[in-house]
Amino acid sequence: MDERAILWPYEGGEAREFFYARYAHPTVAEAERKLGELDGGEAVLFPSGTGAATALVLTALRPGDTIALAAGAYFGTGRLFEALAPWGVRFVEFDQTGPPPDGAQLVWLEAPSNPFLTMPNIEAAVAYPAPVVVDSTVATPVALRPLELGADYALHSVTKYLGGHDDVLLGSVACREPAAADALRRMRGLTGISPASEQAWLLLRSLRTLEVRVHRQAATATVIAARLREHPKVAVVRYPGIGSLISFDVADGAAARRVETATRLVVNATSLGSVTSLIESRHKWEGDRVPAGLLRLSVGLEDPDELWADLAQALDNA
Ligand code: PLP
Repeated sequence: MDERAILWPYEGGEAREFFYARYAHPTVAEAERKLGELDGGEAVLFPSGTGAATALVLTALRPGDTIALAAGAYFGTGRLFEALAPWGVRFVEFDQTGPPPDGAQLVWLEAPSNPFLTMPNIEAAVAYPAPVVVDSTVATPVALRPLELGADYALHSVTKYLGGHDDVLLGSVACREPAAADALRRMRGLTGISPASEQAWLLLRSLRTLEVRVHRQAATATVIAARLREHPKVAVVRYPGIGSLISFDVADGAAARRVETATRLVVNATSLGSVTSLIESRHKWEGDRVPAGLLRLSVGLEDPDELWADLAQALDNA
């Protein structure tokens, strides 16, 4: 059988572990094994981070349930929960540096939040009487293992640091309880929110360099954040000292537009976590939830001095 197959013959008329790729695929299973090792749990792979979040909500919640969502978390997560409102799922936002509000059936943290870069109080959340999800996309399992801190689920947009090269769109949920992973896998097969094996194969390639990429990107981000803090055109710098995502504010929307269109080495595009540095104004997507002058910078693997020279020339003319 062709190794790119999506089906495998029965043996003696019986289905084995792999029979149809919507339910399970050997390359996907291998990527999940590696992701599970990284997070210290049992991982389930999905076609995007958003697909992972959708499957988790459909599995863990029922109509009438409420999610306590970290305020300032990834914009798309709140939009997803809004889209699920017709199915009876509600959400309330709260300051994740403190305890969740009463009455939620699921707590959704982000470590650190994108683009405000606050770190969650995981200890307060796990003391709360509901399961806890930590979207740990920006921290990565290299820097943070939420399951070891008592969280029930560690979610990643694998598209970002785990994939790392802007050529993979995937998401994952690592579960502390094997039964929770079984439930997610069952929901994945039934809803068809199943990942492509070619993407899982690219992920396996990417994971070989994850640790070295994350350490180098974080070291460069520390240097860049310090230089941004010194720059006269920069009002606020947000960098929690974990990961390599930074956000900073220039005077207004017009200045942000001048900076994002003036960089040459740093690519003006959305997303984060790539070997290539990316910058964008978030106001055009998120509206007044973010300051008009806020720029989100994802620090890549370029030489720190070359990166700074590029950012400095863009800022000098802003
Ligand atoms: N979580 C975080 C923190 C993100 O930044 C993103 C995407 O930007 C997502 C989830 C969604 O991931 P995906 O784009 O893979 O659906």
